Amino acid sequence: MACTEISEFGFTCNLCGGNSVFPQESLVNPEHPSCTGCGSNVRFRWLIDRVTREVRPDKSVRGIGLTDPEPVAAILAERFTYLNTFFDIEPRMNIRSDESPLGELDFLIASEVFEHVAPPVADAFHNAARILRPGGVFLITVPWVHEGDGKEVIPPLHDWKIAREDSWVIVDGDSRYPRMSFDGGPGPCLGHTREHFPEWPLPEGKLETYRNLVYHGGPGFALEMRLFTRCGLEENLRAAGFSSVEFDTCENRGIGVVYPYPWGHPIVARK
Ligand SMILES: [Zn+2]
Repeated sequence: MACTEISEFGFTCNLCGGNSVFPQESLVNPEHPSCTGCGSNVRFRWLIDRVTREVRPDKSVRGIGLTDPEPVAAILAERFTYLNTFFDIEPRMNIRSDESPLGELDFLIASEVFEHVAPPVADAFHNAARILRPGGVFLITVPWVHEGDGKEVIPPLHDWKIAREDSWVIVDGDSRYPRMSFDGGPGPCLGHTREHFPEWPLPEGKLETYRNLVYHGGPGFALEMRLFTRCGLEENLRAAGFSSVEFDTCENRGIGVVYPYPWGHPIVARK
């Protein structure tokens, strides 16, 4: 499964067709652009490869992406009836509740999205299953680890917003948790990107400082709400009605898809 020692190897990008040598930086950080032609990373190439192996490229096949990377979305739009959607810009889709704008789906992609969904995250898993046709496929990538407490980092918040002051501050309009802040400093790191989060629950009425909250760039402002565990992910998917859950550990060096870590592998679930 995990490959911890990888010597230099060449690959052909399945987005642009260019040949590159897999860079060592991408072993430390798989999000690092590893194709010198188009800048695709391991995740982009996995998505294209796996979607086209799961569903035959055909305009009769309907799929939706949730904030898919633009180069991935462009290719999917050529091959399928596909719509890339966003939480906060058009075309919008809130995966916790919205209907599919394309009707019953053959595939749904949520790549680096579910860690940001406002709690309870089970709603998002249920809605994902609901908008897929029976046998439809859900491709999901999220940060996950084998051990630890997968409980949500932030409790259910109502009418909350995030503001920037001297440091990042979470302001909760609900006032049960009047003010939470964190210093954004570095902390113990699980692998390449994800940090441990402090324990919940927050003592009632107390100011709580969160260290190491993780924000992602892109349109909008994405706070990482949770770190999944492998068990928690599988439980959520099965509870939502997915009949099969596969953690993909199959490397494909020909297209530059390798997994230097034993955690965080992409997931394919079938309804
Ligand atoms: Zn490329």
